[in-house]
Amino acid sequence: MSERLNANLAKAQQYLARFRRAAVPHFIDGAPRASESGETFATRSPIDNESLASVAAGGAAEVAAAATAAQRAFPAWRDFPNDKRRSLLHAIADAIEGRAEEIALVESVDSGQPIRFMAAAAKRGAENFRFFADKAPEARNGLSLPAREHVNYTLRQPIGPVAAITPWNTPFMLSTWKIAPALAAGCTVVHKPAEWSPLTATLLAEICCAAGLPAGVLNTVHGYGETAGRALTEHEAIKAVALVGGSATGSRIMEQAAPTLKRLHLELGGKNPVVVFEDADLDRALDAVVFMIYSLNGERCTSSSRLLVQQSIHDEFLERLAARVAKIKVGHPLDPDTEIGPLIHPDHVDKVLGYFALARNEHVDVRVGGAKAAAGGNYVLPTVFAGARNELRVAQEEIFGPVLTVIPFADEQEALALANGVRYGLAGYLWTNDVGRAHRFAQKLDVGMVWVNSENNRHLPTPFGGMKASGMGRDGGDYSFDFYMETKNICVALGLHKVPTLGR
Ligand code: NAD
Repeated sequence: MSERLNANLAKAQQYLARFRRAAVPHFIDGAPRASESGETFATRSPIDNESLASVAAGGAAEVAAAATAAQRAFPAWRDFPNDKRRSLLHAIADAIEGRAEEIALVESVDSGQPIRFMAAAAKRGAENFRFFADKAPEARNGLSLPAREHVNYTLRQPIGPVAAITPWNTPFMLSTWKIAPALAAGCTVVHKPAEWSPLTATLLAEICCAAGLPAGVLNTVHGYGETAGRALTEHEAIKAVALVGGSATGSRIMEQAAPTLKRLHLELGGKNPVVVFEDADLDRALDAVVFMIYSLNGERCTSSSRLLVQQSIHDEFLERLAARVAKIKVGHPLDPDTEIGPLIHPDHVDKVLGYFALARNEHVDVRVGGAKAAAGGNYVLPTVFAGARNELRVAQEEIFGPVLTVIPFADEQEALALANGVRYGLAGYLWTNDVGRAHRFAQKLDVGMVWVNSENNRHLPTPFGGMKASGMGRDGGDYSFDFYMETKNICVALGLHKVPTLGR
């Protein structure tokens, strides 16, 4: 065992000790709280599937308490002075950075994500808070729309208490991505973190409270989707639901939220194409292809899980790809050398292994991997399926693991048909040095986000989100405020214009 791994393990144990001592509570109305029923569930580390902590399992009672607290806190938070809101959100960012090591280590052990990536979790979370803190003072601004006898102006107002429901893959960063703009907009929040990696949500609630966020402005209710999540999406006080999760969950939430007509933002799954043309810079393309499917264990919504590669370069590119993938280091997530850690849960491992079997049944060439890794437990080998056809399930379904399906194409027209020939539409990646083709192709891709000659590159003002089964709505920059705020038009008469008269 390397020295650096040992050092990380020792530090992680110190940070985790508090979670082992007592059940992890909800955080409601500014204070930790157990479930009324006393029920808990275990969160297990993907490293060995041993319990890290028992966590309070919330239900309708805890959701009601949290939603009521959020409703009570809303008017004062909505009217909180802008400059103070900005400073408070920056103070939260400072505090996140102050606990960066703890967040990284706890996140890595709870989620199985390699520390090389999770080391940036706090930094990215803090950036989310800082970005929206600085935008907060202008979030309410609107337009002036003068007419002949009236002046219209718009303003934006926070929609009210909102729900943020987040997944297990990069929990801390994704939670801040939802919660920071909601708070900046003036909304209060009930957060329901994923049940497979809930620990850093508790750190976030604590940090916000310690930084001075008033009680009830951010509430965290732990629990299962079918109980806590469902109750939250059905609660009358909650005005909008921001979900990051699977497509089936998105559909269920639409149904659950329909009777109370909530506004929804759904960031769902993907089966994102990366299209490599023969004229591309193939060295750079190869780096990006490998990074975008094997980073974050492949448990990444924007992973480029389908490689479409032009026939003329297919064999050589595949050979180079296979050689690189075979060298990817699978190992303990706290080892700084590890590139792929254990997958989140044995159920998820079974799902991924199921696709290995399916590929073989479908006579796909399993060029690399396709099995559990020597490390045992939840570790699987980075895998390449070659020579696949787009209609096969391995090319159509989101596997959400370190698995790349490679499909050859003849020309631009075929590449586009393959790229768009899935139910998802989150992201697309394009590698070509033909400027005209880059624009032409990008415009025709049925996805919410396209990267040309680049890996997924984050710029906070840009819109983030997908189309088709990948969801609806966008966030990022002002798009987030549009979701968390109502736009109101106010029309004022300039003088004594003629008012229509009835019944005179
Ligand atoms: P999931 O859909 O199973 O769960 C997401 C969250 O929804 C969890 O907190 C869960 O408890 C909750 N939930 C489940 N059923 C619910 C219900 N009926 N009512 C209310 N809440 C419910 O997803 P997951 O397995 O945690 O995460 C993986 C999925 O998330 C993948 O499909 C991935 O692509 C997607 N994802 C998307 C993005 C994006 O930005 N588009 C980012 C990360 C992950």
